[in-house]
This record gives sequence, C-alpha cells and structure tokens, in this order.
Amino acid sequence: FDAPIVLWGDEPLAPYHRPPLSKGLLTGKTSVEQLALRGPDFYAEQQIDLRLGLRATALDAAARRLQLDDGSQIDYGWLALATGARCRPLPVPGAHLQGVHQLRTLDDALAVSQALGECTRACVIGGGFIGLEVAAALATAGAQVTVVESQPRLLARSFPQSMSDYVAGAHRQRGVVLELGRGVRALHGSQGHVQAVELDDGRRIDCELVVVGIGVLPNIALAQDAGIACSGGILVDATGRTSAPNVLAAGDVANMELPAGSGRPMRVRLESIQAANDGARAAASVLVERPQPLAAVPWFWSEQHDLKFQMAGLPAPDDQTVLRGDLASDRFTLFYLRNGAVAAAHSVNRPAEHMLARKLIAQGTRIAPEVLADANADLKFFSTSARAAG
Ligand code: ADP
Repeated sequence: FDAPIVLWGDEPLAPYHRPPLSKGLLTGKTSVEQLALRGPDFYAEQQIDLRLGLRATALDAAARRLQLDDGSQIDYGWLALATGARCRPLPVPGAHLQGVHQLRTLDDALAVSQALGECTRACVIGGGFIGLEVAAALATAGAQVTVVESQPRLLARSFPQSMSDYVAGAHRQRGVVLELGRGVRALHGSQGHVQAVELDDGRRIDCELVVVGIGVLPNIALAQDAGIACSGGILVDATGRTSAPNVLAAGDVANMELPAGSGRPMRVRLESIQAANDGARAAASVLVERPQPLAAVPWFWSEQHDLKFQMAGLPAPDDQTVLRGDLASDRFTLFYLRNGAVAAAHSVNRPAEHMLARKLIAQGTRIAPEVLADANADLKFFSTSARAAG
C-alpha cells in the first residue's frame, strides 16, 4: 500500500499487546518493555505517521472526512476503524471508590499490579476470562481472593457446563473462593477507599482491592453517528468492509461475517487477538486490492494459575462433546463434534494436541468419538497436512 498511512490513537502510548495485561504483567512474567507491538523504528520504516493522544470525534463518511479533538480535520482515501471496546461499568453505589479497578489499558494493569503487592484480601467481580486471570494472579501473589459471578457458573458465555465445573474446581483447589449466582448490591469504603463488597444476600466480603471484569462494550459511537450500520458492534463483511464506502473495521469493535457453510453462527464479534489480527489482515487485503476473506478458525487462549487454556472453533449447544485425557490431571482436550466432524476443541495444558485440533477443525475432519477419546490413538493420522509433513 503506497499511499501515506496515519495512525491515530487516544492512548498516549504506541500500540501494545493487551493480552498480557491480565496475565504475565500481573504475575511478573512479562515486562512493560515486552508489551510493545512493534519496535520503536518500525513505524518510521513503514512510513506510518503515528499520532498519539488524539481522539477522533466525528466522521463524515460521505465527505470522507474525520474530525479530531485538537480541532483538525483530515480527508482520507480509506478509513480503518479499530476503536476496540471499553469496560462495562459496574452499576452499583461505591463503584468509584479508590481500590476499585477495571482492566483495559496498561495504566489499569499497572495500578492493579501495584495494589496486588499490598493487598491481602481481594474481590474480583465477574467470572469471565479477565476476572479469572486476575483472580489467579492475585491468588498466586498470596492474596485471599473471592470471585463474584452473577451467572450460576463461570465462563458461561464461552464454555459448556462440564468445562465451567472443571474451571470452578480448579480455582477452588487453588484457594480461590467462588460466589456463583450472586449479584453485587454495593461497594463500601472508608475515607474514600474500598473496604467491602456487599452481595445481594446481604453478606459482606472484606477486601482492600476490587477488580471488575464484567465484560466490554464495543466503541461504536463514531461509526454509528456517521450512519454506518451497527448491531452489537460495527457490522462488517468477511473482508472487514462496513456499510460505508471506503470504511473498514476490525478488532473488538467489529461484528464480523464468517465464511458461509461453516455451520457456525453467521456473525460474531470476537474479543481475541487472533480475530483482531485476522480481521485486520482481511481488511488490509481490500486496501491492496487483493481481497482475501477471513477464513481462519477462531482461537483464544487464557492462563490461570498453572493452567494454559487453548480454545479453537466456536462450540454450539447441540455439539457432541468427547473428552480426551483426564480432567483430574489438568491435561486434556474436550472435542466438539458437529455432524461427525471436529468443530471445536478446548484444551488444558495440551499445546501439541491443540495445534493438531486446529488443523482438524480447519479441515472439518470426521473422527469417531471412541477414537478421539482413546489416548493411545494417534490423531496425527487424521490431519492431512501433519501426515504429509511426516
Ligand atoms: P471479560 O472479558 O470481562 O472477562 P466476559 O463477558 O467474558 O468478559 O465475562 C464477564 C463475566 O461477568 C460474565 O461471566 C458475566 O456473567 C459476569 N457479570 C456480568 N455482570 C456482572 C455483575 N454485575 N456481577 C457479577 N458478575 C457479572
């Protein structure tokens, strides 16, 4: 792409990796320096003009003009919206007390990381991936941690009951207290600092630190105000095109169309680095006039305590599940079969098997459940590319 590229962002920092913010940055395994998405010279070398700390305030899609909060206006040939998502606010009294954190930016993570060293009792609100990763980091740092989840089980948005039960057991075994099916009525403090979380049954959990991880809201205002079609995110096709000419979108803000015939939901807004990368690559393919629709199998990962979760594909409620390995040993893959073919897989501490599972999903490989469940059966045999490779 030969034309000049300008990259605006309202954060003061050059683009950085967010996944470690709730994982390695809190456990100390990842340093701030390691977060940079690219080295300092990359942007200049690629002739990308990086303009940080600037916010786009309005978009005129017909005139192809963007308004910025420093009063300037920019005319563009193509516009890519990657405005991401923001944390859903906790709608209870006391949510603004000191010691109450959310986790989205590096500043948020550094604040939690600093508080973590000083706190003995912490409460995490929300039992999704962010909440559980933070809970694990806090427990590892020696804090007494309680997770409050309003649904009757953890990770209900991503996992079936059996995986939720496994995750709950794993956290309890490692000392985390879980309050499932419980709402939060209020946060209480003293001298402006949080002291306790009040549950909807009136009990109070004493704590010096609260981390709220109750999901995100896509930042669609700029697109929506410009008349671009939005519904649970900015609607894009499989190459990242929005309803406005010359406007693309990718990442957490984009509600993407998935390739037809995949048997998966037709549209989905995925909050993962893989979806951000692949969605961006598809959008870039439009810019260079070689459109390549998104084809990759969605995948995600999470780190909680000594458990590495890897997830591929999007399970559906009617899928047949087959367990390979042993839950009690914390090393297994749960496969999801749809019409006899491998459609999704959730692995714990099984990286090699998971890589293979991704190939099987991409190829739509059919495997009998009893073969999948047999730890002695060599699954490599079923992957054509792995077989060809040796
Ligand atoms: P995140 O990326 O923040 O982890 P998820 O949507 O994966 O987002 O998980 C958020 C979790 O928070 C869900 O399990 C949801 O049921 C839970 N949740 C939402 N609102 C509340 C609330 N007020 N109190 C406790 N849990 C909540």
